[in-house]
Amino acid sequence: GSRFEGVTSGPPDPYYELLEAFEADTSDTKVNLWVRAYRVELQPFVLNVVKKAEKLMLEKGEDKEYLPMDGLAEFNKVTAELLFGANNPVIQEGRVATVQALSGTGALHLAAAFIHGNFPNAKALISSPTWSNHKTIFDDAKVPYSEYRHYDPISKQLDFDGMIADIKAAPHGSFVLLHGCAHNPTGMDPTPDQWGKIADIIQEKNHIPFFDVAYQGFASGNLDADAYAVRLFVERGLELLVAQSYGKNLGLYGERIGAINIVCSSSETAVRVKSQLKWLIRPEYSNPPLHGARIVANVVGDPALFNEWKQEVELISRRLKSLRQRLFESLSCKDRSGRDWSFIVKENGIFSLIGLNKAQISNPHGSAYQIAHALAVSVFLILHAFWYVLHCVFVRLSQIDNMRNKWHVYMIKDGRMSLGGLSLSQCEYLADAIRDSFH
Ligand code: PLP
Repeated sequence: GSRFEGVTSGPPDPYYELLEAFEADTSDTKVNLWVRAYRVELQPFVLNVVKKAEKLMLEKGEDKEYLPMDGLAEFNKVTAELLFGANNPVIQEGRVATVQALSGTGALHLAAAFIHGNFPNAKALISSPTWSNHKTIFDDAKVPYSEYRHYDPISKQLDFDGMIADIKAAPHGSFVLLHGCAHNPTGMDPTPDQWGKIADIIQEKNHIPFFDVAYQGFASGNLDADAYAVRLFVERGLELLVAQSYGKNLGLYGERIGAINIVCSSSETAVRVKSQLKWLIRPEYSNPPLHGARIVANVVGDPALFNEWKQEVELISRRLKSLRQRLFESLSCKDRSGRDWSFIVKENGIFSLIGLNKAQISNPHGSAYQIAHALAVSVFLILHAFWYVLHCVFVRLSQIDNMRNKWHVYMIKDGRMSLGGLSLSQCEYLADAIRDSFH
């Protein structure tokens, strides 16, 4: 027998299960709404500036020696400048501890481990809903978390009052995880005025903001505008953490390039914080990979390439908006149910949530609770509950199955659509599928 006989299977990852099912589907009309990468008319997309930077790197004939634990110095410099603005006093005063990380995921995980090691009693607060990996990362780092309301699935708007109330109710000194822009999965970001009010509450409660900036440039099409929230909080004099990813905005998904930035109140503290981050890196992977860091350093650090990148990012953002417009128009002209689809064009970035009811979003007990609840109601209201059970359990949950089984449209169970994997020519077809499934 094997010495590993007792090893049980890990839980399946719904993303990768979907990938397998999608690839096995032979339909010509299949649509991938779960892909997290931005593609152009279904094709993987490499930015021009990345190709140019790689050509330059090849010409220079750079070596392949190890980087230091905290990564490529040129990368760390430009990544902080991109985020905070090159003239930001926090940079000039040396108050930011910036460390290269294994893309956004690695940056978040490093920060979560830093929180666990240095703030053993701290709690985190994450948005409801959020990118599912946020929970996995905090669980893994043993940082307890609760959720704040972010989204009202009925009105399909930001639940700003709920958000403020929940941030206010959290224990003093909590780490509040905020999506810097292009919220995943709702596409709903606070306005500048609302960001100001969020900063007020965070200051009042002595919380520590922890930004996840995975889509800088994808919301507005402008890299500076999308850093608005982070820069506002810095301007307020707050100490904060920011995880960055170049997966999406430079299309460097597989290069695993990102950073964690910790803004401190003094340069002495920043040095100590950085040394802690290095000691988290040392036993994990010693030092990060070179290639993606060099690409970013070449693009952001070179004025001509940087300008070209800004134009490419704007183009991506414009194309995402035109996909939203096309889908909205296709749905509005075909759907006679009177449902308002305008939320699709009001959202930012790559994601949109569709067809979820409130219970599915904010019910902390999951679908088992929903079923138990529906059954309990049936004891008293047999006829009504019969409909409720059918509707709530079978109809709602089968919407996404209908999309998949009848229309070959693949999406994750929380009803999130990623427009990154959609082509303009598929919008009409997708509108038919949505109309048929989410009536
Ligand atoms: N944060 C959010 C909100 C995301 O949506 C993602 C990717 O989907 C990430 C972070 C991290 O992505 P990566 O590790 O590829 O940079």
